[in-house]
Amino acid sequence: MSERFDVVVVGSGAGGGVVAGELAQRGREVLLLEAGPHLTAADFVRWEAKAAHDFWWPLRMAMVDGGAGGMVPMFGGRCVGGTTTMNTKVSFRAHDFEFAKWHEASGLLGAGGKPFGTDDLAPHYERVERYLGVRERADWPECVRTLDRGFRELGAELEPVDSYTDHNCMKCGSCLQGCPTNAGKSTMNTYIHEATAVGKLDLRAESPVERVLFSNGDSGLEATGVEYVGADGERQTVEAGAVVVAAGALNTPQILIRSGLPEASGRSPSSEWIGRNLGLHPATFVFGLFDEVQDAHRVYPITSHCMDFMRDEDGGFVLEACTIQDPIGFATSIADEDGPMWGERLVEAVRRYRHWNGILVLANEENNGRVVVGDDGNESFEAHFGEVELERMEKGIDYGKRVMEAAGAKRVAWTGPASTHVQGTCRMGSDPARSVVDEHGESHDAKRLFVGDASLFPKTLSVNPSLTIMALADRLAQRLHDDPNGYLQPQAERVPPRADALSGPPNQFPVTEVIP
Ligand SMILES: Cc1cc2nc3c(=O)[nH]c(=O)nc-3n(C[C@H](O)[C@H](O)[C@H](O)COP(=O)(O)OP(=O)(O)OC[C@H]3O[C@@H](n4cnc5c(N)ncnc54)[C@H](O)[C@@H]3O)c2cc1C
Ligand code: SF4
Repeated sequence: MSERFDVVVVGSGAGGGVVAGELAQRGREVLLLEAGPHLTAADFVRWEAKAAHDFWWPLRMAMVDGGAGGMVPMFGGRCVGGTTTMNTKVSFRAHDFEFAKWHEASGLLGAGGKPFGTDDLAPHYERVERYLGVRERADWPECVRTLDRGFRELGAELEPVDSYTDHNCMKCGSCLQGCPTNAGKSTMNTYIHEATAVGKLDLRAESPVERVLFSNGDSGLEATGVEYVGADGERQTVEAGAVVVAAGALNTPQILIRSGLPEASGRSPSSEWIGRNLGLHPATFVFGLFDEVQDAHRVYPITSHCMDFMRDEDGGFVLEACTIQDPIGFATSIADEDGPMWGERLVEAVRRYRHWNGILVLANEENNGRVVVGDDGNESFEAHFGEVELERMEKGIDYGKRVMEAAGAKRVAWTGPASTHVQGTCRMGSDPARSVVDEHGESHDAKRLFVGDASLFPKTLSVNPSLTIMALADRLAQRLHDDPNGYLQPQAERVPPRADALSGPPNQFPVTEVIP
């Protein structure tokens, strides 16, 4: 007989970690299945190749226009905590104009049947921010001040970011290799560890889920559990009152397709959207070479940003500073007007590694990509950028170059686009003809099946997405716990009231520095 849980959550990143932790803290029996290993601060060392081997998802490429327009590499974490274990923890709420794009894309409605807006997520943002101890990073090192001079010279403003890092942050610059001090608040060292210690969370790492199981009875199509391969290599099935798929925007649609949801739903209009609408939030580095040592690799990677051009009508791009990749990433991506650097020119550029400073340029885009599962069962990723998107990227890169020059750089270089913010492949909406799941994250086609990660976004945000993913996950956990459809077992024991569910991280610092 297979095991039974209230909720099984697939994937332990920004979305899955929060849903699982929140529900387990409320006394629900939760199984959290994660494809990758369970590594902790003691395992993390500043060695790019090792981190990529141990807990990054193998590099995946989105082919732009079938390859004719190049490729966009896509990065992500494959471990407990998912991509939050290797991200830079910049914390942003989405703006009104971004939620307006969501409503336009999928007819998404919020409370009272009004277009979904900031009020629908505000309490959830607040809860996540308080728990993670989000604080402002005004502790700028000299290399940020150097670029600040460039921005000011051009009449733009560089502001400190908010981030979910505490005061143990020693600005080592190692976030992408996993935080060695636990200053960086991944879902692993917060929601998941706390809930496994005191809640009812059963965490199983190295346990990739292969498919969601369905039944098709009198009440229609329903998710009943999942099938996964355990760390011992054995195939297992578990039953659950609700299944939350939160395997990241590149994996969640694949799981739904491999589970046969499109066929089981009779190829419903909403199932046609699974995997479509992939957003890459294309990001490009602009580098500047200075006479003085910058050491832009030994900083908390992103302490500042310029939001002056964030809206489409203002340019449609955001600049973040300052950061450069570690040496392997830097050497394999740097390019200039002669193309990717090579030979003596590359050697010369890398020899001066400590003198380079970097800006990350993120452009707004229109979600024209797609996740595909071929007839052979293999995954592939498509991308397309229209004229307006290419213009935004170009303008952003051009602006970054001008900042570098204004700040005194003797030389500028850049990279091609990459993606660290994939989103949108199972979008939520109130119109089943334009979305995969409804405004609560529940499938339009199968009851008891929920999506709980970046796949939900109807349109790519202009800002870094993880706080919004976590806020949506917090909202989903609340909905599942309230259980209006009677999916979960009635709770025999008294559970703590919601506000007490999470006690806050151990290193909560002075209240003046925590966003209220
Ligand atoms: C280098 C980098 C820096 C970033 N910096 C920031 C930042 O500063 N601020 C910000 O807001 N965002 C940042 N992001 C983005 C942010 O971290 C992601 O958007 C967010 O973590 C995505 O959340 P998710 O839940 O959708 O997916 P993930 O966090 O990727 O979690 C998905 C999880 O599901 C697991 N999984 C996949 N398939 C299966 C399966 N079949 N069975 C079981 N488990 C499975 C994966 O292994 C993974 O652990 C960054 C991303 C990168 C790559
Ligand atoms: S810079 Fe700070 S948050 Fe990032 S890995 Fe180092 S200590 Fe952790």
